[in-house]
Amino acid sequence: MARSLGVRDHGRDVLENRYVYAVVSRRARGLSIGVNLNPDKVCNFDCPYCQVDRTTPGGPSEIDLPALVGELEGVLELARGGTIWSRPPFDTVAADARRLADIAFAGDGEPTTPKEFPAAARAAREARDRHGLTVPLRLITNATMFHRPAVREGLREFDELWCKLDAGTEAYFHKVDGTRLPFLRVLDNLLLLARERPIVIQSLFLTWDGAGPDEAEIAAYLVRLHDVLVAGGRIDRVQVYTVSRRPADPRVGDLPASRLEEIASAVRNLGIRAEVFGAE
Ligand code: SF4
Repeated sequence: MARSLGVRDHGRDVLENRYVYAVVSRRARGLSIGVNLNPDKVCNFDCPYCQVDRTTPGGPSEIDLPALVGELEGVLELARGGTIWSRPPFDTVAADARRLADIAFAGDGEPTTPKEFPAAARAAREARDRHGLTVPLRLITNATMFHRPAVREGLREFDELWCKLDAGTEAYFHKVDGTRLPFLRVLDNLLLLARERPIVIQSLFLTWDGAGPDEAEIAAYLVRLHDVLVAGGRIDRVQVYTVSRRPADPRVGDLPASRLEEIASAVRNLGIRAEVFGAE
């Protein structure tokens, strides 16, 4: 059966590359050229809603930077000239999504953990500039590594930092992000960056065995955002969203759009812009 490409299809294999892929992203609102720095599929979180297929083994951890740059150059060339839209499965993309939206470091794990992250970020920015493209270079991150000087250096290459904050309390953080890392590390790192430059917060809310986060959890989440503001941090906007593709964990489901809107409205009451992305 011919493959059609849309927001539900985030397979990394479309271009048959090792590091660079392309997906139609609802939050980026168009074609997102992705850079995967975790071909080994290793992540320091184990979010139950994660879309990465870890039932098949990953590749080597080492990043072959020249190979990554070569792949990126190839995809940028396809995108810049528009020839990507005549190539299957990109020829199936809806007309209103046929725009290059960004170059995003995301992939199959936390992009800031590999030692090659700063060099890869610099190389991606240089490749974008060489191609005369003005699309933003984005980092989609769980904010666990910002305290490392080498990572901070790499962050400077990005136009936008999209930072995960899915919880308000330590216990819920551990549950929805599947980690034993301290919540305080994420909160401290968010503030560290937000004091330097505006950040985007991306917050995924889900149902667990049919129940969404309770009022106390949402209230605590709002306090976390407020804490950033009162400590001098800047939040450009918050993306309130839910799962749009079926996760591996069957206990996880999407939160209704009406509840997402309520959460977004409470975020706006803090004086922060909020966008809602419901399940497709
Ligand atoms: S941080 Fe991202 S890649 Fe890692 S487990 Fe969570 S959703 Fe998956």
